[in-house]
This record gives sequence, structure tokens and C-alpha cells, in this order.
Amino acid sequence: MNITALLADLGVDYSTLAGQDIPARSPRDGSTIAVLRSHTASEVQQAIDNASQASLQWRNEPAPLRGELVRLLGQVLREKRDALGQLVTLESGKILSEGIGEVQEMIDICDFAVGLSRQLHGLTITSERPGHRMMETWHPLGVCGVITAFNFPVAVWAWNAALALVCGNAVIWKPSEKTPLTALAVHALLQQAIARHARQAAVPAALCQVLIGGAEVGVALSRSPAVALVSATGSVAMGRKVAVEVAQRLGRSLLELGGNNGMIVAPSADLDLALRAIVFSAVGTAGQRCTSLRRLFVERSKFDTLTAHIERVYATLNIGDPLAAGTLVGPLIDAHAYANMQAALSQARSEGGMVSGGERIAGLGGEHAFYVRPALVRMPQQSAVMHHETFAPILYALPYDDFSQAIALNNAVPQGLSSAIFTNDIREAELFMSANGSDCGLANVNIGTSGAEIGGAFGGEKETGGGRESGSDAWKTYMRRATNTINYSGALPLAQGVSFDIG
Ligand code: NAD
Repeated sequence: MNITALLADLGVDYSTLAGQDIPARSPRDGSTIAVLRSHTASEVQQAIDNASQASLQWRNEPAPLRGELVRLLGQVLREKRDALGQLVTLESGKILSEGIGEVQEMIDICDFAVGLSRQLHGLTITSERPGHRMMETWHPLGVCGVITAFNFPVAVWAWNAALALVCGNAVIWKPSEKTPLTALAVHALLQQAIARHARQAAVPAALCQVLIGGAEVGVALSRSPAVALVSATGSVAMGRKVAVEVAQRLGRSLLELGGNNGMIVAPSADLDLALRAIVFSAVGTAGQRCTSLRRLFVERSKFDTLTAHIERVYATLNIGDPLAAGTLVGPLIDAHAYANMQAALSQARSEGGMVSGGERIAGLGGEHAFYVRPALVRMPQQSAVMHHETFAPILYALPYDDFSQAIALNNAVPQGLSSAIFTNDIREAELFMSANGSDCGLANVNIGTSGAEIGGAFGGEKETGGGRESGSDAWKTYMRRATNTINYSGALPLAQGVSFDIG
């Protein structure tokens, strides 16, 4: 893989950002692909000022014409889907079909947002006063800051930016310091889309900006009153800090934080289907998805059979170079992720867990790459280790005896992102999706916990942060709502029958 040629194909010129601060590494072999410099505090402030100006211009462009820019972005992404997918694989370590799939997800949200650009509609509401009408109108917020995690280095920006742009906002992106090159590549592709826009002058230069750097750049965005919305994706620890910074100035935040996702396998489940869903959800992206399956609750009579099947499949998984055809499991992002995985496994052992797998695969990718065999851990109960998200392919499994116990186990952790049930019993499925069922933002039936489509609102409850992005009516977070009351009567009746006669 010739990285220089790949970056050139995507139009990336990082010479102005070459520096000493931020090494872009490939987890595939631990090599350093490039070293970038962080944007300085004054550059960050300048970017915010420029974005504020840009938003004043962009908000006056009719929404369908804003959608035209997003349509062109989708077109450029279609043309460069495979190249960008390769770069995602190189920088994040996910397998190529997932890297390309992530770019497809960007294309999908662009299509969604283009349609949305003609549908940013409010309500009309009957008034209690004669000759009056009420309605809602939706207006752009201004500047949206988007902070993203390493594991979806491009799609999460697109979920936010495609909506934010059609809604009339300027966007500042702070990508993960672990994946800066993919962000620069997306930015370069966006410039190509802008260059194709028939009304180029309508697109201000600072409409979309990328700021390279670590937490300090995210902190600056969170603190700035000029950033109307901070959409932050990452760990719960990060979300706690961003939430406080933004709340301090009474700004708006959209938090997409860690998950700790569970699946119930009921006695009527199609075990073959469940097995496939479990393996994809637990080991896909090497267990580094926010929606990765981490906790499995199997009805006791099926427990031994199903866990034996999982163990058998785990032993034959093709683990290796994420760019190679046929690989199912690529590397962990870095040494830190590997150390966290091993710490969680030893904690699980100390809590009575029986660990199978989980070891580093010697020699694969060289000394600085971290390839592991996914771990299955049979647990005696849902103990402390299962209450944390360990961002690695560890699946904890335990048997349950009655269905209400299974739902209680599913809900007994602080996070609330994704959940699933495998059952052919409609009463169990409905109960799982009801108010008495799963307390997560995503509750699936007969599919796994990971692999959401863009059409639905995506996000989770409790420590996952409560944010929703992507489909459904998530666009409303990127706009402000005004309620308008219009009097066409010639009189001035007051609401609630209040009388105020000034003679
Ligand atoms: P992370 O929290 O380490 O970093 C995420 C981003 O936050 C990075 O850009 C980082 O620079 C920035 N950041 C860190 N501290 C900050 C601060 N104080 N203020 C502002 N920004 C700050 O997360 P990660 O390791 O890159 O990603 C893995 C985590 O992300 C997992 O917990 C995973 O579940 C979560 N995640 C959640 C979703 C979701 O939609 N819910 C999606 C993807 C990943």
C-alpha cells in the first residue's frame, strides 16, 4: 500500500500541517504514516471567528441549495469510496469492507440530508384566540463543533455535518488525534464538492474547517459561547468534561458516549441466526464499536450449546491484516487498548470468570501492532468488570433462568446505548421493546447490537449521554425553534382571558 499515492489520490496535502505533535499511526503495523502539528489556541479562536462569519452568510442560502452542496459531497464520496475506505482501514485498523462500509454510511447520510433539505418543516397550531394562528419555524443555530472518536473516523463527522449543513450551520471538526489523516482527506474531498458547486460564491471558505489537535482543541470548542452546539462522540469520561464545559455557558451539547451493550438469547431463539449476530457484533471492528456486543445473557438450557459454538467460531476466525481479503478481525488501535483488554481479563478472572482466548497473536504485524484473539468469558454473575466498557473484543456470557431477570441484567449497567434480543416469542420481543423492557436507545429484535442504519435516530441513554444523531428527526438538534403567533383579527385578545384595559 503506497500511502503517499493514496493521499495524493484523495487530494490531501498536509505539508502546511507537517510538524511534531500528532503522529498518524497505522495500527496495521504500528508504523508512523505522518507527523502533524496541532492547531494553536489562536488558530482555534480564529477558526471559530471565521465560522461565525461563514454561518451568517450560509444561513441565507435557501435550504435546498444548501442541500446541493451535500449532494455534491455524496457524489465525490461515491467516486472516492474505495480510496477513502482504504485510508480508514490504514488509520483505524478496521477491515477493508468495514472501512468502505463507513464511507458508504457517509454517502447514505448525504442522500438523507439532501431530501431533508426540502423538509425542514414546522407545525401550525390552533390558537385559543379568535383570528390568530400559531406556527413553528426552524432556524440555523450558527456554528456546530463536532468532536469525533477514532473508531468511526469519518462517518460520525458526516452524520453531524450533512445535517448541520442543510440546516444552515457552519461546522468545525475536531477529529480524534489518532485519526487525523482521514479527517484531512474528507476535508479535501469536501473542497472538490465545493469546487463543483454552481454557486461557489455562496459557499463561504470557512463553512467547514478541520482543527487538528488533542483534548485542548475540544475544550476550546466546548468553552466558546460562539459554538452553539457541541456534538461530541467518545468515551464517557470525555463526555462528562464536555457536558460540564458546555453547560457552564448554557450551550447545547449532543453527547454520543460509550456503550456496554447486551443481548438476550431466549429459549425459542434461532441459535444459528443468533450465533452469526453475536460473532459479528462482538468481534467486528475488533470489538471497538460503541455498539459492540459485550454482555450475553443466554437462557440456561441453551447456554452450554451456544457458548461452545461461539468458542468454536472464535477459534477459526481469520485474524490479521485488515487490508487483506478474507480477514474478519484486524488489530486493536494501540498498545493502550491492548493493556486495557488484558487488565479487564485479569479482573474478570479474579471475579470468577473463565476466560477463553484474549491473547496477543505473536508476531502478527510486528512489535508495534496489537492483534488479539477475541475473548469469551463465562461469568458466574454480572460483576464489577461487566459494568465498564472495555474497548476490545471481550464477550462476557452468563446464563439466566427467567425472562424478567434477563431484562434486569440488560439494564443493570450505567450505559444505555444498544441492546438486542433473539426470540421467536412475540410476547418476549414486545416486552423487550416496551417501557418495561430494554432501557437503551437501540433495542433490536433478531439482529445484533451493532450495524445501525442511518435512517433511524442513533444514540443512547444514561451514561451514553442521551444524544441522538443521524436519521429520524435528529436534525432538530441542529436548529433553533421559534414559536410564532400571528394576529389577523383587528382586536387584541390576551391569552388565558387576561384583561388589561388601558382605556
Ligand atoms: P476519547 O473519549 O478518548 O476521544 C474522543 C474525542 O474526544 C477525541 O477527539 C479526543 O481528542 C476528544 N477529547 C478528549 N478529551 C476531551 C475533552 N476534555 N474535551 C473535549 N474533547 C476531548 O474516545 P476514543 O477512544 O477516541 O473512542 C472510543 C470511545 O468512543 C468509546 O467509549 C466508544 O464507545 C465511544 N464512541 C461512542 C459512539 C456513539 O455514537 N455513542 C460512537 C463511537 C465511539
